[in-house]
Amino acid sequence: MRTNKIFILFVLLVLTSRTSGLNIKVRLLSEHLFSTVDVNVVSGAYSVLCDNKKVFPTDLTAGSAITITRFEGKIRMEKGLELIGFFSEIEFIGTKYNNVFSLKTANLTKERIYEDNLQIVLLASELSLVNTIGLEKYIAGVVQSEVFGSSNEVEFFKIQSIASRTYCLANLNRHLPQGYNLCDGTHCQAYKGRCTQADILRATYESFSDVVVDSSNRLISTAYHSNSGGMTESAGNIWQKDISYLQSVRDTFSIGARNYQWEKVIPKKQWIGYFIAGFGSKYAQPEYQAKILNFEQEQRIAKWIIDVDTIETKDIRTFFKLRSSYFSVQTKGENVYLKGKGYGHGVGLSQEGAIEMVKQGYSPAEIFRFYYQDVRVIKYTEIIDF
Ligand SMILES: [Zn+2]
Repeated sequence: MRTNKIFILFVLLVLTSRTSGLNIKVRLLSEHLFSTVDVNVVSGAYSVLCDNKKVFPTDLTAGSAITITRFEGKIRMEKGLELIGFFSEIEFIGTKYNNVFSLKTANLTKERIYEDNLQIVLLASELSLVNTIGLEKYIAGVVQSEVFGSSNEVEFFKIQSIASRTYCLANLNRHLPQGYNLCDGTHCQAYKGRCTQADILRATYESFSDVVVDSSNRLISTAYHSNSGGMTESAGNIWQKDISYLQSVRDTFSIGARNYQWEKVIPKKQWIGYFIAGFGSKYAQPEYQAKILNFEQEQRIAKWIIDVDTIETKDIRTFFKLRSSYFSVQTKGENVYLKGKGYGHGVGLSQEGAIEMVKQGYSPAEIFRFYYQDVRVIKYTEIIDF
């Protein structure tokens, strides 16, 4: 435990010194509704500016508690029981090393802990809390918030760090009109506060500034899913948009993993009803039913053609809430048995396949090159001039 803490401190020091130039702005608690928030200083020190004026003679240190409330078009600030005033903008600016604060609202079951600076303004009459934070610290926080799959391998955390960094830098303009780069919800990338896991901090540090680019040196869209079922899907088939690096590949690494196979039983009447509702009453006839009651996908089929009908397997997936659109159909008695492979849309990187590749010794760059065609892992400083 002690060793872990020392390691975290070491990594934080390195990350801070190497990334002091690049900060991003992330809106916090963007998926929560609240009119009051408590801001507590956890460590370091903060200078507080209200409408650009310093309100406290000395910086706030650990244990200081400020309550912020939305109040008739202004932001009310209290320190303990003392009313400080009503303002349009409040900024908490870290003045020492390792400045950390926490946020608590009535709806949050547990307080959230964040690093670096905080700006509070009103946006469409709501409190907007914007964290200005070093890129690598943010990436480590995202990886801890979005940990997917069941791997604790540092190499797998590196893949997530690189994917999150690529997404972040490709989407810096996403919320620019609202005054920040990204929100902390699933709309952008889940970010629930500072990273506390030593392995994730290490992975972020070891993949420092790595991103994935396509053959034209553009940051790619790092689409991923849980398990490909042995074959990934092309973006063109799922999103009607052909993307050169998101093509279908045979993926033996995903075979046998936890989400490789699934099965679902549907009443025959309901299955036939889907086709009648969507494609006409001819599916009440035995000759058409024979086509839909037994069906095999040896390879992924996006469009299932029956006579003049084009049936999208992804629509069937959505309607029947299936784990994937990669399934076969068998019928016994009054039931239809769907036997499926994979979990998710199937486009891009298979998480469980990547975990298996890590176990077999493939590097993050090799894994990206396997799931995305003609891509490279490079330092973002090669393509972006900050
Ligand atoms: Zn967003």
